Amino acid sequence: MPADSAPEVPPEAERAGVVAFPQPVCAACGGPREPQKREACSDRCRAALSRRRRAEAETTRQQQTETELAVSRGDLKDAQAVLEAISWLANITLTRLDAPSSKGGHNG
Ligand SMILES: [Zn+2]
Repeated sequence: MPADSAPEVPPEAERAGVVAFPQPVCAACGGPREPQKREACSDRCRAALSRRRRAEAETTRQQQTETELAVSRGDLKDAQAVLEAISWLANITLTRLDAPSSKGGHNG
């Protein structure tokens, strides 16, 4: 007895989408997110983003420390290599994370 029929829901949500601007995507899972949300589609994704940021920041810090060490030792060649790595990392970080939009306004 095939009494298993899932209720088909018409894709009204998809039809209601606007095509004026590209659909914003979640920076964590890459899925679609509401424009009113910051950068992640859910609290969970936001937490994941925060974690990732911390990890990336820590990696960058480590690279910087290595650079300082190399410079203090006089290994300029090594420092240059590390610097390149840092710029590469920074590029990725900047690409992945939205630039913090500074709000210009005076209150009171
Ligand atoms: Zn998400």
